[in-house]
Amino acid sequence: MNTIMRNNVNNHTINNNTINNNTINNNRIIENQSSIDTSINGLIDSILISVDAYNLLFNNFSNTNELYYLIQFNHNFNFNDLVNLIKSLLYFDITFLSTSPCQNYFLINFRRNDEIILILHIYNMTIYDYCIKFTEPHFDCNMIYRNYNGYNVMYNYHCSVSIPYDDVLRRLYNKKFSYISDNLQNIDEYLQTYEKSLMPMTHSEILNKFTYAIKLIENGWIMDEYILSKNTWTINYWKNYKNNLNIIKLNNNILYNELNEELNNFDKCYICNCKFNDNDIVFNKDTLFIKYECLFNVLMN
Ligand SMILES: [Zn+2]
Repeated sequence: MNTIMRNNVNNHTINNNTINNNTINNNRIIENQSSIDTSINGLIDSILISVDAYNLLFNNFSNTNELYYLIQFNHNFNFNDLVNLIKSLLYFDITFLSTSPCQNYFLINFRRNDEIILILHIYNMTIYDYCIKFTEPHFDCNMIYRNYNGYNVMYNYHCSVSIPYDDVLRRLYNKKFSYISDNLQNIDEYLQTYEKSLMPMTHSEILNKFTYAIKLIENGWIMDEYILSKNTWTINYWKNYKNNLNIIKLNNNILYNELNEELNNFDKCYICNCKFNDNDIVFNKDTLFIKYECLFNVLMN
C-alpha cells in the first residue's frame, strides 16, 4: 500500500510550498509515499520515524504547518540527541528553535527567511499518558498513528469498547467522529442538577472537549454516537440533528424512534427555551438539547 489517507480538518493548515507530491482532495490529503519527499516535513518525518516515534495523524487548526509525534526518550537517546540529529541533517537555509512549554512536551519551530515553515510538537510519554492527558485522543478520528512498522490504531483507554482500524478509517473518509470516553456519560444529569459527584472533570476541561468537537463540525464533520451510543454526547448543527438523526443515533434505536416521532418537542433549547435555527450549534445527550452559546455561558459561570 503506497498511498494513505490522512484526514485534513482544515484546508488552510497546509501551506502549498510545504507539500510535495500531495494532492488535496475534498479536505483530505492523499500522499504518494513512493515519491521522494524533499520538503522539511518529509525530512523531519523520516528522522522521527527512524527513531521509533509515533506520528500522531490528527490535524491542527492553525495557519501554520504542524507535525505531532509521540516518543519515549531514554538514557541512550534524549531530547538533546534528537536535536543534534536534526541539526546534522537539516537543509542549510533552515534554522530552528526548541522550547519546552511544560514537562515532557517539546516544541521546535523551523524557519526559512524568518518565516516559520513548520512547528514540530513532541510528546515524551507513553500512549497511555498521552491518551489520558490530552483532549485529542478522546475522539475516535484521532486514534490512528504511524510508526516504523506502518499504521495502527491506539487502544481505547477511555472505556471498554475497542475500535477496529478499518472502522476508524472508514469514518475518517465519511467525516464522522465520536467521543470515545465514558467520563461524560452523566453530563445530562449534571446539567440538570449540578450535582458535583456526577462530574469527574472541571468545567474548563469539559469546554476543551466541546471546543475541539466544534472545530471539526465547523469543517463539515458530523459527530455521532457510534462508539458509546446513549452513554455519550454529541455537538452538531441543528440542521444535522433534523436531517441526519438516523446517522447520529445509528446504534441508539430506542431513543432514535422516540426522538424521530417527537423531534418537534425537542426543538427548543433546554436553558433559554428558544427555538433552534438551522445553523445553531447544538449540544445533545439523550433528549437534552442545548444551544452551545447557552451551555458555554453556564459552564463559564
Ligand atoms: Zn439556549
